[in-house]
Amino acid sequence: MTSARSSLLVCTLAALTLAGCAEPAVELTPGLKAFVGARIIDGTGNMIEDGALIVRDGRVEAVGPSDSVSVPVSAEWIDLTGLTIMPGLINTHGHVGATRGLESNSDLYTRDNLLHQLGLYARYGVTTVFSLGGDDQAGFNLRNEQDLSLDRARLFVAGPVVVGDTPEEVEPIVDEVARMGADIVKIRVDDNLGSTTKMPEEAWRAVIRRAHEHGLRVAAHVFYLDDARKLVDAEVDFLAHSIRDTDVDQELIDKMVERNVCLSPTLMREVSTFVYESRPAFFDDPFFLRAADADVIAGLEDPERQARVQNSKSSQGYKAALEVAMRNVKALADGGVRLAFGTDTGPVGRFQGYFEQLELERMVEAGLTAAQAIMTATGDAAACMQVKDDLGTLAAGTWADFVVLSANPLDDILNTRSIESVWVAGNPVTSGN
Ligand SMILES: [Zn+2]
Repeated sequence: MTSARSSLLVCTLAALTLAGCAEPAVELTPGLKAFVGARIIDGTGNMIEDGALIVRDGRVEAVGPSDSVSVPVSAEWIDLTGLTIMPGLINTHGHVGATRGLESNSDLYTRDNLLHQLGLYARYGVTTVFSLGGDDQAGFNLRNEQDLSLDRARLFVAGPVVVGDTPEEVEPIVDEVARMGADIVKIRVDDNLGSTTKMPEEAWRAVIRRAHEHGLRVAAHVFYLDDARKLVDAEVDFLAHSIRDTDVDQELIDKMVERNVCLSPTLMREVSTFVYESRPAFFDDPFFLRAADADVIAGLEDPERQARVQNSKSSQGYKAALEVAMRNVKALADGGVRLAFGTDTGPVGRFQGYFEQLELERMVEAGLTAAQAIMTATGDAAACMQVKDDLGTLAAGTWADFVVLSANPLDDILNTRSIESVWVAGNPVTSGN
């Protein structure tokens, strides 16, 4: 990869000839880059063969076929002939900070740990993460520091999950989450397969009302179709998991389309609940191993732990729920509901970055085309999270957050793993921790 940092006098488009760089070299404009020759998947459903992507000061200045985009003579020229550019993946449901290795607690929610995890996401092609709950001040600080020098995944935060049994209990919590400056409010409406008490309807309705008074949207953890229906009726903005108890019906599909409510499938969340009952095949995947910690693998391979998962009623329950979730992903997509790519990564055994890659594969297994799966993670994710002017597509004005691949992911979704480089705000993401 060429870099403007090594020299400000390099060969530019204007000076390039078959014989090499003709004199005189042109002085480069700092922050101006031309990525030329790649196939460009732009995140809106369009694809350009032999494209040019011009980036100025972290944002896309122009994008189109090479022969129709004028490349400024002072741009740093980055030849990507034969490669594919796609927008960076947007994970609309992840978690950051509270896990390290096999440990999980709020003391781990430090700036260093967050930066480590946001770097990890980015190296796997995930350039934006919406952390849906468990976020503390260090996360809000990083959310506020997303400027031109960014070289890790962008972070948006929900703050603490709002819990409580009555409107009187939850309303002050919503006020506090709003005061902290959360991007979205998170609630959970679930009884965890009958093992816990569900948030009462009057309490979650009060959260939605109060959040909307603050101009904040609400994302709901959901499991049951019946709850999803009630939440959509109560004007919830986002369903943060698949419906997993039974097949969705036309009534829900129609309401979600009408009210423009998106759903994040998080299929890998289900997988994570049972996959460690034995040694998962991905433990041998070099793409996984490049970032995996040997102690974590050893911990998850522990026979006693495996036996606990095998004998866990909830693990086996969620294994069955995955089948329902996958059918519903297909039914919702066919019905025109907008899906927002999400994984629920972050907790122990839900590997940030790598699991996003597995989620894309699962969505295609569920019946989506590769193009549809990519849309959920790019333009549609951005639309669902109301950040589409800035993220999710490569169009004039959006942040230059993108992945360069050696193979076309529209041919095979597994090609999203053929990562050559990742760019955030036009900066290359490096391999450090
Ligand atoms: Zn979650």
